[in-house]
Amino acid sequence: MKRRDFIALAPAAALAQTRPSLAETYRDSASKLIVAAMADQGGWNKMMHLCDRIGHRLAGSTGLERAVEWCAAEMRREGLSNVLTPLVQVPHWVRGQESAMMLEPLASPIAMLGLGGSVGTPPEGITAEVVVVSSFDELEKLGAEAVRGKIVLYDVPWQGYGRTVAYRGQGASRASKLGAAAALVRSVTPVSLRSPHTGAMNYSGDAPKIPTAAVSVEDSLRIRRLCGNGQTVKVRLTMEAQTLPDADSANVIGEIPGREKPEEIVVMGGHIDSWDVGQGAQDDASGCVACWQAILLAKQLGLRPRRTLRVCLWTNEENGLRGAAAYRQWAGATVKNHVAAVEMDGGAERPTGFGLTISGAGEEVMARAMARMQQIGELLAVVGAGSMTVGGGGADIGPLTRDGVPSIGHRTVGQRYFEWHHTHADTLDKIDPQEFRQSVAALAVLGFVLADMPERLAE
Ligand SMILES: [Zn+2]
Repeated sequence: MKRRDFIALAPAAALAQTRPSLAETYRDSASKLIVAAMADQGGWNKMMHLCDRIGHRLAGSTGLERAVEWCAAEMRREGLSNVLTPLVQVPHWVRGQESAMMLEPLASPIAMLGLGGSVGTPPEGITAEVVVVSSFDELEKLGAEAVRGKIVLYDVPWQGYGRTVAYRGQGASRASKLGAAAALVRSVTPVSLRSPHTGAMNYSGDAPKIPTAAVSVEDSLRIRRLCGNGQTVKVRLTMEAQTLPDADSANVIGEIPGREKPEEIVVMGGHIDSWDVGQGAQDDASGCVACWQAILLAKQLGLRPRRTLRVCLWTNEENGLRGAAAYRQWAGATVKNHVAAVEMDGGAERPTGFGLTISGAGEEVMARAMARMQQIGELLAVVGAGSMTVGGGGADIGPLTRDGVPSIGHRTVGQRYFEWHHTHADTLDKIDPQEFRQSVAALAVLGFVLADMPERLAE
């Protein structure tokens, strides 16, 4: 039996028998990285600067501009190589002043946040009766007769982010097709302390653009109860939101050049932009800084990997994904030299491990890659992040994933992330510094081993 056939039949076993496992080979360097990460103050200092001194960073804002400049300057000061800020044109949506007020059956303010991309209202606002629905089906059943000229409120209970977020994204256009004047969406969250959650929405192009905003869970439930009791609820929605011409922004890139195969690349990062509320601390300063610090620690320890280890802070994930598209274009033909792309964009709660996607890979390639991931996982058990699963990635590395680059998503316990997500409450105090350091440690080991191991992850 040729060696090739043997690997095809029993990939994991073959890996184990032909060479020492990655866990054995990298035990020493991993423990150095983990010790350094768990004692590191530099990453937390960066979090404080980004969150407290710069603050939120929506595409087109001065906050994002300052963040990009500061991160690039810090990377240069730290001695990372090839620090670049390739230009990215980004959408420029501004919120302006906004409010929602219940007028009937009683005057009472409503906690709201306009949705990113929404048009504004006339200066005097839109005043109309509210129609409450709990699904698109229910909206369609009501029909244009019941909806025309009204404000539609989607009071949809949380069913997980992926499912419920459809109402935030498509709610306005679906209501507009039936003649609604505006659309309100219950915030996409499992838990609320009357904090509204913003986020992106899209107009479908086949219905007039109507203003749309998220309201807090509490306000949504109150309006539902009032309507259910036969009350007529009238609301005035006032929004100055508008979309300005595209603005200049940039991805921020820094590297440790590989010592043997500098042309092969492991890229890791998060998105430097955020919504225009809170501090974008969990989402996604934490992902940016954890990946950046992971690479910096390897450099400071003198661990120079075989391949290039690159950090990328992508711009405009939240309302355009232009940074992700621009990176793919900037990478050009070098995309095939990307050994792996790693993204952290689910917050910095306690990390559990990583998920891997290799689009287009056959079973054997995937089995070999997972066997390698599991060997790396053995090194991460000490920080609780050793669970390696199939399926993972991220929005910013999506274009790389689609081109077959092995794509790895950072995972956490994910217990509270969506309570803070896209709210005024996404602030640094929500991050436990030690849990954050566990993510830095896990990313440092993962990134270094992927960039240094003899074979590519997917071969
Ligand atoms: Zn994010």
